[in-house]
Amino acid sequence: MTIDLRSDTLTVPTPGMREAMMAAPVGDDVYAEDPTVNELERRTAELFGHEAGLFCATGSLANLLGVRMLVEPGQEVLCDVSAHIARAEMGAHAAVHGLTMRTMPSVRGRLELDRVAELLSPSAGPHLVSTAAVAVENTHNFGGGTVQPLEQLAAVGELCHANGVGYHLDGARLWNAHVASGVSLASYGALFDTISVCFSKGLGAPVGSVLVTSAANVARARVQRKRLGGGWRQAGMLAAAALYALDHHIDRLAEDHTAARVLAEAISGQAPAAVDLAAVETNIVVVGTGERAAGPVAAAAAEQGVRVSALGPHMIRAVTHLGVTAEECAQAGKVLGSLLA
Ligand SMILES: *Cc1c(COP(=O)(O)O)cnc(C)c1O
Repeated sequence: MTIDLRSDTLTVPTPGMREAMMAAPVGDDVYAEDPTVNELERRTAELFGHEAGLFCATGSLANLLGVRMLVEPGQEVLCDVSAHIARAEMGAHAAVHGLTMRTMPSVRGRLELDRVAELLSPSAGPHLVSTAAVAVENTHNFGGGTVQPLEQLAAVGELCHANGVGYHLDGARLWNAHVASGVSLASYGALFDTISVCFSKGLGAPVGSVLVTSAANVARARVQRKRLGGGWRQAGMLAAAALYALDHHIDRLAEDHTAARVLAEAISGQAPAAVDLAAVETNIVVVGTGERAAGPVAAAAAEQGVRVSALGPHMIRAVTHLGVTAEECAQAGKVLGSLLA
């Protein structure tokens, strides 16, 4: 049997989720008449204390729209050098919306007030690009599931708002940050102008993200979503999966975090240099392959039934999720540990 730790997007809908999808009342969402989509948007916005939400096919689309609500073509958004919006969205913000990005170095994706303050140039005049928004990722994916400390998030938020600069949160795994830190969703919500959250990662829905922001922004984002071909019709069956996930799959993320720790400890038992146990904060484990190239190590693991992602020349990422048990993670850790010992 394969233990697939390449990503938490690999989850498939549970039987209960499938039942909820089958039972969902639906309508035409381009007419804003799908009651299940409307319910998901309302509930998600409420969790974050925002006015409204917009259900989108992907997190990339929710980020694309969220950032665009804050930044005009020719202006810049600041983010860290390994941010998903900068590295993993195929240049969409530039290619589609004409925005530029300036990126900051970071340690494991962690936001730092000083770095933001150094680059922030609101109303930069006729010679320089003006900063219109700062974007932060929580948890940070390529950083290894890093939880952003609330004080730093709040301090950067104050700086942004004092300078009339927007503040976007890529919260694809904000649910994991919330469960790991105990910070309420409303406390995170209060800091940002626009937030994207994913339902298709650890929450286990097949598809979908929601952008939450003001009602006025959602009205504008809805037009732009349609323009990009992202208007959809009876999407309520997908929204039902997301609603089911809100009710049943948030608290259980703690199990994924425990499983990640089990995995990391099993690896470090045989190959102590390969993982930094203190850096395992949520459901992502970054494994260093030392002198060895990551690709062949991942391939050797796959032959033994453990699938992981080679994300850098000497870096492997393993992600726990509702499709794998802690026992399987212990087993996977033994396989990886013995390959790296
Ligand atoms: C997965 C992810 C997204 C969204 O990805 P899609 O594949 O477009 O749904 C956005 N941000 C981060 C940090 C992610 O990990």
